[in-house]
Amino acid sequence: MIRRGLTVLACALLAATPALAGDRASLQNRCWSAAALSGTPEEKKITKGIKTFDAPPPATALEPSTPVPVPVAWRGAVRRVKLQPGKKLIALTFDMCELPGEVTGYDTPLVDYLRANGIKATFFASGKWMRSHAKRTQQLMADPLFEIGNHAEAHRNLRLLSGQALTDEIEGPQRAYELQRAQQRSHQCVADDPAFDTIPPRMSLFRFPFGACNQAALDAVNDAGLLAIQWDVSTGDPVPAQSAAAIANAMLQAKPGAIVIGHGNGRGFHTAEALAIAIPQLKAKGFDFVTVSELLAQGTPEISATCYDRRPGDTDRYDTFFKPSPPNVDVKLDKKHAEKPNEPAVPAR
Ligand SMILES: [Zn+2]
Repeated sequence: MIRRGLTVLACALLAATPALAGDRASLQNRCWSAAALSGTPEEKKITKGIKTFDAPPPATALEPSTPVPVPVAWRGAVRRVKLQPGKKLIALTFDMCELPGEVTGYDTPLVDYLRANGIKATFFASGKWMRSHAKRTQQLMADPLFEIGNHAEAHRNLRLLSGQALTDEIEGPQRAYELQRAQQRSHQCVADDPAFDTIPPRMSLFRFPFGACNQAALDAVNDAGLLAIQWDVSTGDPVPAQSAAAIANAMLQAKPGAIVIGHGNGRGFHTAEALAIAIPQLKAKGFDFVTVSELLAQGTPEISATCYDRRPGDTDRYDTFFKPSPPNVDVKLDKKHAEKPNEPAVPAR
């Protein structure tokens, strides 16, 4: 039963690794010019006091496809992936967090660097971010280098939620994803191109906001057919004082099978510069870069029963200053705490 479940999931993950990757690249090029893909550095800015995207679309607007069950052996929090000796793969991940009352950014230099150097990556996007960055979401979705994972609807602390509020945080991003995928299909440039079908209809990966979960939240995520993806390399990039050299140094500690967390929404203050330092060195050491789905397809996930940044319990501290809030109510970010330079790296803000 477990083996059958693993096979089904592996097929779902491999479906995210398109056989027609080249075709998807041509699809992307038909739909957007190079200038439209690269955008402007101003997009990295984070704007407070905007509530335009706070209200999620009605739950009845879409008919989500059936989730693939997560096998029993893969339930829990994935820290990294055990690979066969000799395989040197790393999965870079970038969180696109967005809380109520703000519109976060899009790190153009970071994405441009990945594209220019053919570096694969996984973007974990809040449903709210996907709605406030519709064009960018569709571009990332269409890019054969990238995959998109679920980063909750409005970046609430799922340890503090239950019932419908918990469900909404998990299901909201899938609705946002399906909406953007449907809008992309309607573009004239897509027409009936079969490459479009290599864009997965459903996200299969989930990242907990703040890297914080409890058993109920983990169960709810896994029951929704989503693998919970944590990390074993924390760049600390949402701390403004974390220099590009320090972020690069963290990346250079990655071992084969590593999952690296950074931010692509403007809260990775020096992440793009760090990539330019670390990627060439990692390549020189023989590493290749893959999406999380591709990494999982190449080995066996190492699972933790709980979610944490560097050691069990270290993300529980978010319970004390991210109070439960009903949907569509502002969550106040404790800047003093979250941006304190000497704090341990703040994960997944
Ligand atoms: Zn986040």
